[in-house]
Amino acid sequence: MRITLFGTGYVGLVTGACLAEMGNHVLCVDIDADKIAALKQGVVPIFEPGLAPMVQRNHAAGLLDFTTDAAAGVAHGEVLFIAVGTPPDEDGSADLRHVLAVAASIGEHLRDYAVVVNKSTVPVGTAERVCARIDQALAARGVQVPFDVVSNPEFLKEGDAVDDCMRPDRIIIGSDSARALALLKRLYAPFNRNHERIVAMDTRSAELTKYAANAMLATKISFMNEIANLAERVGADVELVRQGIGADPRIGYHFIYPGAGYGGSCFPKDVQALVHTAETHGYAPRLLQAVEAVNQAQKQHLFALIQRHFGGDLRGKTIALWGLAFKPNTDDMRAAPSRTLMEALWGAGAHVRAYDPEAQRETRRFYGERADLTLCVQPYEALQGADALVLVTEWKVFRSPDFARIRAALATPVLFDGRNLYDPAAVESAGLAYYGIGRGRSV
Ligand code: NAD
Repeated sequence: MRITLFGTGYVGLVTGACLAEMGNHVLCVDIDADKIAALKQGVVPIFEPGLAPMVQRNHAAGLLDFTTDAAAGVAHGEVLFIAVGTPPDEDGSADLRHVLAVAASIGEHLRDYAVVVNKSTVPVGTAERVCARIDQALAARGVQVPFDVVSNPEFLKEGDAVDDCMRPDRIIIGSDSARALALLKRLYAPFNRNHERIVAMDTRSAELTKYAANAMLATKISFMNEIANLAERVGADVELVRQGIGADPRIGYHFIYPGAGYGGSCFPKDVQALVHTAETHGYAPRLLQAVEAVNQAQKQHLFALIQRHFGGDLRGKTIALWGLAFKPNTDDMRAAPSRTLMEALWGAGAHVRAYDPEAQRETRRFYGERADLTLCVQPYEALQGADALVLVTEWKVFRSPDFARIRAALATPVLFDGRNLYDPAAVESAGLAYYGIGRGRSV
């Protein structure tokens, strides 16, 4: 099939590559000319395991191409995916500027029937707004061209995006058009072979499903962070509590890890957008508001532990950070807890030495060159002369460190474990003070 994707970010590029991998002819459109030029050279501008070879292979095979020309994109696809960003607006609502800009250019250039698929995470009612925007642009041209707008939210996880896209848990298709549904079922057939993964519904339910999924996951994290904060106060170890509750299959072990708060480009903005949607419909979403408030506080928690350890004065201290990306296996730094921590440390007069396997370039993009930030090219280099080590992102390379080497490199022997990755006894027996999250000893 001939497919066009608008937006070549984590979602658009991965989806485009996976659809090309199945033999479709895919054209990816982006307004970022540098990104398109790089992709045409086979350079993938984001880190996502397995993505670069898939992009290069399909580009070389003539199945995947890139352009900044929206008109060419509209002319190419019988299915037109919208996979552009929906960042938070100042009031927490989703900013639909990019989505509606794509809708307008579809209306400006559409000549034959196409299915317009909203893959971006968008508030309930957006499919109708996209439809209206396309109609408006068609009317301005004085033409009538049939089209359908479908809501097909994306559930891939950065770090596992290619796998998730190739083997989705479910494929949500929100549509009231039998023709559009049939076309998308044909497109997704290769991803839907062993058991039925397609859940068809109306567009509003599909749009809400995406927010409900992310809000549920964020709720699990904030719940565990709340229990961790309680564990610190009552002298319990949240790691034991976690294992104890996870054994109940109704609860399960997934996604109940306490830590430095959730970050990334989705959970924070999607919880805020859902709160906004609820409020604009006259409903006070008390649980979601609490999920967000607990997370805001949790993102300050590591800093509070560090500050307390050093008697409230961090001026002139050097703090080593292991991990900057918002989670392992990605270079994404959007709303990363490491950023809240670094900014608090800088505000308190500390110097940061940091190592991350993939997020150095993104860190420079956010912060540029600054005197109070040293980016290191290997983990132990970050420790040289530092007063503390803070584990922020649980990359595999940090899982079994040499605690004696850490002890020897640090000017003062203290480790803050923002992911409860380490056995406190092992850390302490190497002569390091240990702080975890909710491990009964930090308050
Ligand atoms: P991203 O910021 O990585 O990429 C968005 C791309 O869209 C950018 O390259 C940008 O230049 C491009 N763009 C903006 N306006 C455009 C236009 N008019 N025409 C063509 N391209 C344009 O975003 P992302 O992380 O891929 O997320 C995209 C959407 O998918 C968001 O709504 C997000 O919430 C949702 N989503 C993201 C993830 C994730 O893990 N990143 C998972 C599921 C859903």
